[in-house]
Amino acid sequence: MYPFTFTKVSDTAEALNAGHRGGRYIAGGTTLVDLMRETVERPETLVDISALPLRGVTVTERGGLRIGALVRMAEAAAHAKVRTTYPVISEALELSASAQLRNMATIGGNIMQRTRCTYFRDVTAGCNKREPGSGCAARDGFNRTHAILGTSDACVATHPSDVAVAFAALQATVHVVGPDGARSIPFADFLLRPGSTPEREQALQKGELITAVEIPAFPRPLKSGYLKVRDRQSYEFALTSAAVALHVRGGVIREAKVAAGGVGTVPWKLPAVEKHLIGERPSQALWAEAAKHAADGARPLEHNRFKVELLKRTVERQLRIVGGTK
Ligand code: SF4
Repeated sequence: MYPFTFTKVSDTAEALNAGHRGGRYIAGGTTLVDLMRETVERPETLVDISALPLRGVTVTERGGLRIGALVRMAEAAAHAKVRTTYPVISEALELSASAQLRNMATIGGNIMQRTRCTYFRDVTAGCNKREPGSGCAARDGFNRTHAILGTSDACVATHPSDVAVAFAALQATVHVVGPDGARSIPFADFLLRPGSTPEREQALQKGELITAVEIPAFPRPLKSGYLKVRDRQSYEFALTSAAVALHVRGGVIREAKVAAGGVGTVPWKLPAVEKHLIGERPSQALWAEAAKHAADGARPLEHNRFKVELLKRTVERQLRIVGGTK
């Protein structure tokens, strides 16, 4: 570790002031402290925001859900309203990390977490995300866990969050506040693909602070769930995953929200799969046919070609689990 300044703030104005001066926000600390220990990140000032009033899960006027940025992962997963209206969120959270981490990590921190690419965390390796212009050791290295969608010449790292896949599927909104006031960012625009600037991962401006994530209301009933495929059954990141939400009325699929994890540089929405489902009657054949589109546009690397087929099977299986087999 190295010397740094630690400031605890008690209100949002104080936080924004410190953030605008270059301080890094910290709450659960489950990602940032690790990265500081490994000297991957070296912030000079940490701003502890854990006392800010950004907790609580509330039903919005429009019938959606608003999850405060400082709600712990475990707390959100166990919340009765989350469990009953959006099980896909609860399941994604419960399949993440370990119990200890879920008790500390916050929703805001979860969607801000950085990639698990091993080269990113190895300060002796070339990594454009950690050190722009230094190359990408993963491209010609061991890239079994890396992305097949949304990659660029500069970076092929996956986004590690599970709940972000559920948020992407459900078209959540991220509410933020900054020196210029509050604004709302569609989840699809919040996490950035690497392009030529992989070091820039979110659409936040300097000093901006996440206040909440809002899930829109959907027609009821909405059946949903999250499937995670990984090398071991606990404390492991996804090789592939699928978040699925379906609204079926009169025997016909009226709404279909589908996204994949473990395969994209950001949580990967699957509009081609959704389009294939809407207006159709649930059936085994439909799930299989729709899932064929899950890997459209994939560009696998040397060691992760298996993800193309695995992704299709993951999506098909989760459509079957959520949508039934009639
Ligand atoms: Fe760095 Fe991205 Fe390459 Fe990993 S994939 S080494 S994070 S540039």
